[in-house]
Amino acid sequence: MIQEKCSKCGYFPASNRKFDTIFCPFCFAFSPKDKEHFEEYCLEKVNFQDIETFRKNFLVRGMKQKEGMIKQSSSGKIMARAPFGYKNEKGFLVPDLNSREVEEIFLEFLNGDGNLTKLSNKHSLSINGLKKILKNYSYLGKIKFANQIHEGKHTPLISSTLFNHVQNKLENLKIK
Ligand SMILES: [Zn+2]
Repeated sequence: MIQEKCSKCGYFPASNRKFDTIFCPFCFAFSPKDKEHFEEYCLEKVNFQDIETFRKNFLVRGMKQKEGMIKQSSSGKIMARAPFGYKNEKGFLVPDLNSREVEEIFLEFLNGDGNLTKLSNKHSLSINGLKKILKNYSYLGKIKFANQIHEGKHTPLISSTLFNHVQNKLENLKIK
């Protein structure tokens, strides 16, 4: 059997294959069935060390209980790279020097004309970077893994009201 690194979490050895992509059994079990979500899933990289406990428990308990394991994954140690406004401290998200700018960005988008170019320039972000920020559940103290939202343990940077208003505005402006 050919053994390679998991393309999502880097775990070695990995030998499960889906759509020509190599996964460890864990990332394989969580991978979406349809191609479009699958590609998104592959782009969302994680570090296998960050999901170690999650994965070990999962492998011990078996795949049938994966829903239950997802609920237990609330240690906050899932992100490989910290989102803007946080730093990664030993696997945990901690607000950094940019943390106050996050709320500013949300408020400015909500109260502004919806022009992403202007707002991204103002904050020295790319348009994609800005969009990622505006849609990022981390700022609510939550964690997104394998397209599911879990309660995290890190400090939220904005209120859910502000977040929801921004999601509505993004939707109304058809910003994806
Ligand atoms: Zn993996």
